[in-house]
Amino acid sequence: MNRIRLLPEQVANQIAAGEVVERPASVIKELVENSLDAQATRVTVEVQAGGRSLIRVTDDGLGMSRDDALLCLERHATSKITRAEDLSAIATMGFRGEALPSIASVCRFTLTTRERESANPEGTQVIINGGKIAAVNASGGAAGTSVEVRQLFFNLPARRKFLRTEETESAHIQHYLTLAALAFPEVAFDFFKDGRAVWQLPGVKTRSRLEALRERLRVLGNPDEKLLAVEFSAELPAIEDAEGTSSDQPAKLAVWGFMGAPGVSRASREEQHVFVNRRPVENRGVNFALLEGYHTALMKGRYPVCCLFIEIDPGEVDVNIHPAKREIKFHRERAMRGLLTRAVADTLLRFHGQAAAPASPPPAQSPPPPPTPPRLEPVKRPELRNYPTVPAPLPFSPPAKAVPPAPTVTAAPGPAPTPHASALLHVPLRLVGVIGRLYVVLESDRGLVLLDQHAAHERILYEQMLRRLEENGAAPSQRLLLPATVELTAQDAQFLRGQLPVLTRLGVGLSEFGEQTFLLDALPPFVKAGQPRQFVLELIDELKAAGQGVNTLRLGEHTIAKTVCRHAVKANDPLAAPELENLIEDLRRCAMPYTCPHGRPTLIEMNFRELEKKFGRSA
Ligand code: ADP
Ligand code: MG
Repeated sequence: MNRIRLLPEQVANQIAAGEVVERPASVIKELVENSLDAQATRVTVEVQAGGRSLIRVTDDGLGMSRDDALLCLERHATSKITRAEDLSAIATMGFRGEALPSIASVCRFTLTTRERESANPEGTQVIINGGKIAAVNASGGAAGTSVEVRQLFFNLPARRKFLRTEETESAHIQHYLTLAALAFPEVAFDFFKDGRAVWQLPGVKTRSRLEALRERLRVLGNPDEKLLAVEFSAELPAIEDAEGTSSDQPAKLAVWGFMGAPGVSRASREEQHVFVNRRPVENRGVNFALLEGYHTALMKGRYPVCCLFIEIDPGEVDVNIHPAKREIKFHRERAMRGLLTRAVADTLLRFHGQAAAPASPPPAQSPPPPPTPPRLEPVKRPELRNYPTVPAPLPFSPPAKAVPPAPTVTAAPGPAPTPHASALLHVPLRLVGVIGRLYVVLESDRGLVLLDQHAAHERILYEQMLRRLEENGAAPSQRLLLPATVELTAQDAQFLRGQLPVLTRLGVGLSEFGEQTFLLDALPPFVKAGQPRQFVLELIDELKAAGQGVNTLRLGEHTIAKTVCRHAVKANDPLAAPELENLIEDLRRCAMPYTCPHGRPTLIEMNFRELEKKFGRSA
């Protein structure tokens, strides 16, 4: 008896919908991607009840003829690829020809469309209920396409039950729309929730892509003063083990966008936005590369804030491994990771290397001049040298680009863009005092600056140590008058044994003195020698903690150096003005002065704008 038969079209569509249509946000994602693929310049999204009762996406894109409007609802009907080879060169968001029939099979669906570039003033309207065509009519209306999805999953009660609260579904929708808006600043996005306008984002047309993105970030409410511009390009080297034919040629890779300045981070990846060829993606390799790039500029357990675009030959990525194309695969993953890490690290280094000059052309509307700080004459105040704004050549800064003529942007009148974050240590700083025996209060022409003297000292020591290690010299070390022996558990003894060579080079004179006993006879000069035993025990604990998740017996030099620097003595030690001056001078010479080796900020700035806001002097 034969038992196999082909599923009816409608059932097949519903099964496909199970993969593509997870929730209202995924419907919106598919519809908005179609609008973007259809070269829309304006996309309007309306939802009611978190998308449960209504989703409507309207665009002014190419539109469809009557025949196409009917065909697009068939499975595997697409205008975007024709041959299997096209799969390796996908430049559109969609290509599977699956979304519309899937969506139409699980809701009450209306498609209204009229061709933009056609003399025919007549449009088409197709009405489908749960996958069955109910009507096809001629219609009027504007050029472009509008898709209305009512009562999502009305015919699949089990799926409908799985929808979350309106707020949760709305949050998912808004999250996706944010990504789309960031990836396409030139497109205007309107978003209405239950009849209320949430966003009306004008399309940003005439600026460079970086400026356009900056503007889009601004209207989405992200302050840009703590963001650094990224502009990086390099070549992916040909790979050793050629598994794919496309991988034996060098390929270009560009990374651009914005990323948080040192010290800017979040407790989750929520504000880490990464796009590959304009597609928002999740990729573990990318996550690692970002963390690696930030290195010591990010605290453990914290995540970067960024909006980065990776541009790469479409043949270098596989976007066809996830039903919603959220995950992607890089053919040359390792090389890509390495370059992304470099892009981030270079940007951080350049941030300090560059003078106060902005890395990108100044915004067209020049910001209002910062209010001049009141010239308080100090009663008796130690004066720090005013550091000149460094006239240094900018080895890393991008070549000067032609600034586009004054843009005719239809931007909503908002606060003028803040000037580009310029390195704090390049503006003159004046000492005001020290509070809590730890925080150094400074004044710059931009406002108030606080310096954490301990964090700063740690950073300085850390970089000095690394330099020594690189030069293969030994760090300075002071012999103890009274060497101390420390008895350890067998486990700790074994662990410590693995770290001895590096510790010795870092100036910690520890040697084996028996099976489980060690002799401490020297310390780096910055470590208080008060309780040597205590120091060794704490060090072991900290090293063990630092090594967690690192599955090598021997910790890296960087990790050990970081840990030893924790014991810098400067916290709570009152420093005289000249010492503070030296501290800032030394910090200025660091490669990454804005965070301690553990990623905590060394400096905090509160500019006059922020102060005015706090005192209610401005909106
Ligand atoms: P895919 O996007 O993978 O091609 P879809 O089912 O999402 O598959 O869409 C099928 C086809 O319908 C698209 O290839 C496109 O030609 C057409 N289409 C869908 N939405 C729009 C739109 N908003 N404007 C113009 N054409 C559209
Ligand atoms: Mg599509």
